Amino acid sequence: MAGMLYLVPTPIGNLSDISIRCRETLEKADFIAAEDTRVSLKLLNHLGIKKPLVSYFEHNKSQKGEMIVGRILAGETCALVSDAGSPAISDPGEELVKQCAEAGITVCAIPGPCAVITALSISGQATGRFCFEGFLSTAKKSRREHLESLANEQRTMVFYEAPHKLLNTLEDMAAVFGEDRPISLCRELTKLHEEVIRTTLGGAIQLYNQQPPKGEFVLVVAGAAPAEEKVATEDDAVARVKELMDGGMSRKDAIKQTAQELHLPKNVVYDAALNI
Ligand code: SAM
Repeated sequence: MAGMLYLVPTPIGNLSDISIRCRETLEKADFIAAEDTRVSLKLLNHLGIKKPLVSYFEHNKSQKGEMIVGRILAGETCALVSDAGSPAISDPGEELVKQCAEAGITVCAIPGPCAVITALSISGQATGRFCFEGFLSTAKKSRREHLESLANEQRTMVFYEAPHKLLNTLEDMAAVFGEDRPISLCRELTKLHEEVIRTTLGGAIQLYNQQPPKGEFVLVVAGAAPAEEKVATEDDAVARVKELMDGGMSRKDAIKQTAQELHLPKNVVYDAALNI
């Protein structure tokens, strides 16, 4: 019988955030696949768990993935952990889940610490609709292209960012979204120096020019305000009726179509178009 793959989230700063179910799953697994075995060993030692560890990270994932799938198909159960937070979310694992799914292996994700959700919850920004954008590219051109593709995004946007790239990212965001766009900078979540700075992109740039950013960041940026719907005027109606008539349409049909297009009452368009 085939085994299973468990995705086991681990603390993003506070060791007490490991759940009973995560602990039990790590205890029961036949082996643990870890992004960095040294990091995971510290956690396992803290939990008093001894298990064989297999390294599974960005640059060995295709070759290691096949080996892990083979072992699971042979009946073993694997628990996948990353350095911190939820595996497969901006972390190795996405590929392994895909490979397991293709091989008909059951994949079980245990809920637990995840920086994107922790940050969004305390950001003070709208949480009803959001999009997760992960890490922006380190290359300026693709970072700008990524941000420009979000220029009209109305949902709250969540980004992961490293401290040494923060100022460049904030400057690019301000250039695309405007300096007044609200942002919540969520730093060192669940740790001793957890901090949420709720400001604007301009305010954040000013702040971090004065004090160099330290620690891990999640940026929660407000979405764009909905574009104001333009209310059509009588002049707009006259121009459109004329345009349609010049194109060969009868006056009656042009008035009807203009009223529909501009959401104006037909009699208003009719009166406005009397002198054409
Ligand atoms: N899979 C993990 C998760 O979903 O929580 C994220 C891993 S990703 C490689 C690491 C990024 O997550 C960091 O660069 C930072 O943006 C964010 N992050 C992780 N832990 C954090 C923390 N304690 N406080 C703020 N951001 C954190």
